[in-house]
Amino acid sequence: MSYRNILELLKLPENSHCADCGKPDPDWASCNMGVFVCLQCSGVHRISSIGKVKSTQLDNMEHDLIEFMRSHGNQRSKDEYEACVPPFYYIPTEKDVMVLKEQWIRAKYERREFTRDTNSLYAVEYKEGYLWKKGRDNGQFLKRLFVFSESEGLLKYYTKDKHFGPKGKIPIQSLNAMFQGDKIKHPHGLEITCVVDGRTRSIYVYHENGAEIVTWYNVLRSARFNYLKKTFPGTAEAELIPKITRSYTKSGYMAKTGPTQKEAFKKRWFNLDSEERKLLYYKKPLDPFEQGGLFIGSNKCGYQVSEGLNKNSKWDTGIVIKTPEREFVFTCENTKEQKEWLEALREIIFRPMTTQDVTEEARFRKSTKK
Ligand SMILES: [Zn+2]
Repeated sequence: MSYRNILELLKLPENSHCADCGKPDPDWASCNMGVFVCLQCSGVHRISSIGKVKSTQLDNMEHDLIEFMRSHGNQRSKDEYEACVPPFYYIPTEKDVMVLKEQWIRAKYERREFTRDTNSLYAVEYKEGYLWKKGRDNGQFLKRLFVFSESEGLLKYYTKDKHFGPKGKIPIQSLNAMFQGDKIKHPHGLEITCVVDGRTRSIYVYHENGAEIVTWYNVLRSARFNYLKKTFPGTAEAELIPKITRSYTKSGYMAKTGPTQKEAFKKRWFNLDSEERKLLYYKKPLDPFEQGGLFIGSNKCGYQVSEGLNKNSKWDTGIVIKTPEREFVFTCENTKEQKEWLEALREIIFRPMTTQDVTEEARFRKSTKK
């Protein structure tokens, strides 16, 4: 009887997705919050002060609990706990790193940040604090003071006392930030990039405390959102939000040959930035700058992508990208990788170019012709 009732509750459209990350078909119940969540999010509910969870498939649900779940549910919880989420705050999906999901859940239910207007927590004009930053030329992470200043439009970091001046300046204008736990080999690893003389500068940081790194991330997102609103006045918020920060669509190793296609294949790390239409390659994943890159235009403007031709058995897992200037050949580590790269590249090539893309293409051509 009780099993049937809980299944009926799960059939309601509002309970068809995890209350926290949106994953379909949640099968855990958070007993104090009255929400249905996925296995991974249920783990956060269990270890935090939010409390008890039960499996809707395996655990016995008493009548009172079913009634409680019925009178709450995912929609009511959303109306209450997500009432005032600032528009720039990053709401994680099931694909995101754990630290983003954990902090979202803790911010929602434990700290109740979004039951009232909490813009002031993240939409700050100034923030300083230390982060562990990877040294530019070695693998060591060193403690650095980071300072964000809205009035200067900069994120700066210092190696010594502030009086000695900043070691690095990252303009909010071209700043991007994305969690990169695997690459940085720390679950709170964050990659922050900006554009310096047409090249992408990457810095790699983390903080031991998950709440602190997610706060930095959302402070930077708030700054980017303000910058975008000022730069593109009159543009709908919904259009600006995807431009606040972006993650690489795909990253991984491929091997590349040179312009004559007779050069030896060299293994390189690639990042595909779909929003910016750029495929960048690096000698090593954590390099501060890319070694080179390609602008990926659209099929209407002379760009093509295809599987490698069988000129050479090595090209079986190959990818050929034709740009108006030349042909690039890359080989993937296996056919699964090849398929994923092709899909990701095709998504860009079949997407029409905006006027901004056309300007960027011209600038990119000029800078790579040096
Ligand atoms: Zn979830």
